[in-house]
Amino acid sequence: MITKEAIIKRFISYVTVDTESDPKSDTTPSTAKQWDLAHALAKELIAIGMKDVTIDPNAYIMATLPSNVDHDVPTIGFISHFDTSPDFTGANVKPRVIENYDGKDIALNAEHNIILSPDYFEDLLLYKGQTLIVTDGTTLLGADDKAGITEIVSAMEYLINHPEIKHGDIKVGFTPDEEIGRGAHKFDVEKFGADWAYTMDGSQIGELEYENFNAAGATVTVKGKIVHPGYAKGKMVNSMYIATEFINSLPRLETPEHTEGYQGFFHLYSVEGKVEETVLQYIIRDHDMAHFEARKEVMQNLTNEINTQYEREVITIDIKDQYFNMKEKVEPVKHIVDIAEEAMKLLDIEPLIKPIRGGTDGSQLSYMGLPCPNIFAGGHNFHGRYEYVPVESMIKATEVICKIAELTAEKALK
Ligand SMILES: [Zn+2]
Repeated sequence: MITKEAIIKRFISYVTVDTESDPKSDTTPSTAKQWDLAHALAKELIAIGMKDVTIDPNAYIMATLPSNVDHDVPTIGFISHFDTSPDFTGANVKPRVIENYDGKDIALNAEHNIILSPDYFEDLLLYKGQTLIVTDGTTLLGADDKAGITEIVSAMEYLINHPEIKHGDIKVGFTPDEEIGRGAHKFDVEKFGADWAYTMDGSQIGELEYENFNAAGATVTVKGKIVHPGYAKGKMVNSMYIATEFINSLPRLETPEHTEGYQGFFHLYSVEGKVEETVLQYIIRDHDMAHFEARKEVMQNLTNEINTQYEREVITIDIKDQYFNMKEKVEPVKHIVDIAEEAMKLLDIEPLIKPIRGGTDGSQLSYMGLPCPNIFAGGHNFHGRYEYVPVESMIKATEVICKIAELTAEKALK
């Protein structure tokens, strides 16, 4: 059995090390303090008996649990990230364990009156009677994604201590800087050497994800002409009015606040304007590749159309792809999702398969040649003071990892 005590102890040993990443830094890892946990993790992997434990100059950690069977089994991997989000401080995390949660308000911080309440966070009620780990209300918790690391290390330790569970080669990868979008950038897929992998970086128990957005960013620049307002007739071109025309020409209901599920959107997230120049920043998101391309085309056509109304080019657009839907890479090897789903069902976990309205490291890795769906790690309310994780969900995720390893070896026999 994987004990609650062992999981709690391991998890707390990780979250009490500050590993906040920094988008303004150009180095990898983006913050030197991520090395603190990286070194500790490498040591721990060696201590529990993992082989080929390496930590590269960018702080990517890899390790192998060798096969314990004679037949050929595909090599699978499990990946999580050890940095925490720069959205909220991760220094001096003081985790608190709440046994047998009663379903009522949790006073995270009496002094500042910070309450974690099921009135606002209904998901809490799923975990009545369970053991929760919460913050003291002044920091994030870091379950994103130190819950994932806890689960992977615990699963490897369990498999090492239980050689009667048969499995093929298993690879483990821990990355820095996922929260600033660079977790996969320097991941050496070839060195990792897995046929496929799973990121343990989802939220609620049961989550299993292999579809995410196609994503692009667009910068729209409008050039006006400034003239003294008293003498402006027929001369002034106010870039802000042209920008407004652009904004109003895109469908108002195809925006994040009006869409869900598979619906895509245009999201205007910044406007900076003066008469002379206005810059609009958009992100474009769609699960469907054809719709995604059409959205980019709509913005390009609108730009061209507005320019025809003027004697010179007043508006330019720069569209850059950011990441793509991993479905394209995972669907041809759909059995890797099916195995995860089967593992969950065998463990009495109801699989929650749904499209991600965002991206994951797994989507980038899938395009780098490592198909990589995402599995729940158990935490909720990521990137803020209300973050919490049920210990029972972490135990289940650990069991899912072991079961996937076992099923992969079993299926390779047939
Ligand atoms: Zn994460």
